[in-house]
Amino acid sequence: MKKIAFLMFLGVATSAHAQFRLPSLDINKLVDTVKNVGKAVQEIQEPEEIEIGQDVASRLLGAAPLVPNPGLQRYVNHVGRWLAAQTERPDLPWRFGVLDAPQLNAFAVPGGTIFITRGLLERMKSEAELAGVLAHEIVHVLQKHHLKAIQKGAKTALAGDALGAALKDRGGAARDKLIAFGTEMYSRGLDKSDELEADRLGVVIAARGGYDAYGLPSVLQTLQAMNAEDSGVALMFKTHPAPAERLGALDRMQATLDAYASQAQLADRFAASVRK
Ligand SMILES: [Zn+2]
Repeated sequence: MKKIAFLMFLGVATSAHAQFRLPSLDINKLVDTVKNVGKAVQEIQEPEEIEIGQDVASRLLGAAPLVPNPGLQRYVNHVGRWLAAQTERPDLPWRFGVLDAPQLNAFAVPGGTIFITRGLLERMKSEAELAGVLAHEIVHVLQKHHLKAIQKGAKTALAGDALGAALKDRGGAARDKLIAFGTEMYSRGLDKSDELEADRLGVVIAARGGYDAYGLPSVLQTLQAMNAEDSGVALMFKTHPAPAERLGALDRMQATLDAYASQAQLADRFAASVRK
């Protein structure tokens, strides 16, 4: 039954997508190729990436549980998985969760787990806005932004313990240090270049999914109108470049955004799924 509902959703989304095919969106042109993690750092393989993500996600879930509304969780998963299917890592174990927190935030965990808070969802007006935010988070996973930051900081975080041991020994002390470091990153934030890259590539993924490309800019405008002192946005503002700066950076993509601005917003479907 669940599977049928999901396929039906994909059916709807596929026809919307077919109507607005996007052959010309080249994501590679938008990637920061200058960034590189030092060769000396041990490569973290995909199964390890997924396991690290699971461990970090369970700590984050300890801080804020999921909203106990299966219909809402299913809806956000449908939108997120449809977007993830448009990317070059469609086969990761993607899962999306709405956290029961009044603050406005969203974050991605290595390996394909993405959380959005109830507070942010409540401020949104359409599925295109939701897609814009989820696509931004999907890019963090695709580009391994958190994983690379964990890798980069591992030497300091592990204080002498080997990364290899931390990766293999899931119950061990070294592993614990690595996961604690990975979890702390969500209060420190990523590099600004990673955030701006997630914005640039995120709007492309949302457009590929058949959504109005202005979904993410629209959410950024909502955030810009809020008071930075508001406790609901304090962490989001601390860990991300200011909304005005992010909007300014997206201005350079205006031609692309305009080309896909007439795509689906799905405000009614969003309202029906989120506000009941
Ligand atoms: Zn981000």
